[in-house]
Amino acid sequence: MTAVPRHPAPESPSLGGLSASGPAAGDRAGSGRAAAAPCAMSIDVEDWFHSENVADVVPRAAWDGCAQRAERNTLRMLEILAGHDVRATFFVLGWVAERRPALVRDIAAAGHEVASHGYGHELVYRMRPADFRADVTRARALLEDLSGQEVRGYRAPCFSITDWAIDELQAAGYAYDSSMVPTLAHDRYGRIEGYDGRLPVAELRPGFDEVCVSCLPFGRRGLPWGGGGWFRLTPFALWMRGVEAIRNAGLPYVFYIHPWEIDPGHPVPPGMRPSNRFRQRVNLGRCEARFDAIAGALDWMPVADLLEVWKGRPAAGGGRPGAAAPAPFRAPFPVDEETSR
Ligand SMILES: [Zn+2]
Repeated sequence: MTAVPRHPAPESPSLGGLSASGPAAGDRAGSGRAAAAPCAMSIDVEDWFHSENVADVVPRAAWDGCAQRAERNTLRMLEILAGHDVRATFFVLGWVAERRPALVRDIAAAGHEVASHGYGHELVYRMRPADFRADVTRARALLEDLSGQEVRGYRAPCFSITDWAIDELQAAGYAYDSSMVPTLAHDRYGRIEGYDGRLPVAELRPGFDEVCVSCLPFGRRGLPWGGGGWFRLTPFALWMRGVEAIRNAGLPYVFYIHPWEIDPGHPVPPGMRPSNRFRQRVNLGRCEARFDAIAGALDWMPVADLLEVWKGRPAAGGGRPGAAAPAPFRAPFPVDEETSR
């Protein structure tokens, strides 16, 4: 197994000053100018029928009969990332890796970090710990065999992380989790009790870290600003202003996307509830262009690299429990708090 190679030295600003100089420069909250906070790009590699939005109309037993589109969509994403010389983290679902082993090899060969989305895409807080351990162990072994990399990272299906899962992940050999979305604005996300949502990265146990998916701090809640339907729904320029605000506060930016989000041709199974159909389908037709745009707009690195950069930076304040959290700041545009629930 080989270690994940380090990201090359960051380059000059590429979007009107949004992108910044060296990520370890340590510009902290309150400076009011473009901060040097690092950005991580992540792809959750699963197929359209693994989405929780279709779970009630496409049962698990039907998965093998569905049109599989994850490989073609992920290959397209690899092309887009290569066009911008971006290295990312691919949290690959074991179910997909088992059926598309060449895809995992392609991801690794392109220099990306291969990480784990678990095997069977069950919501973590609905699983028993022993079943969860088996799921994440199976996925990790499979992905390490295919990629030739040590698999360090895990992202829970639908961000459904919960406390006991952290101990199980560490026992299964993982070194970090990237499933926390520090917001109350989503009905399916999990949580880690007592986690200070103002800490974007934190050492949860000796040798095990959490890397949060980004939110825009706002009042008592964070607005999800890391990807998904929110990314597809929000006007792109406004989205980038939010990213700028996060980075201006000295916080790292962690983005995620799924391969099916750039595929407006993926099937619409009959019987979907309107709310789930909206979450699954909103602005799919614009999403590939947006993904291309954001991939080219910032200096990205894999999540494992962001973790190293963040922990190793000179002003190492915000990364560990007990350290001073970044000062809260106001969104640079009006946001209706009611819409964030
Ligand atoms: Zn997923």
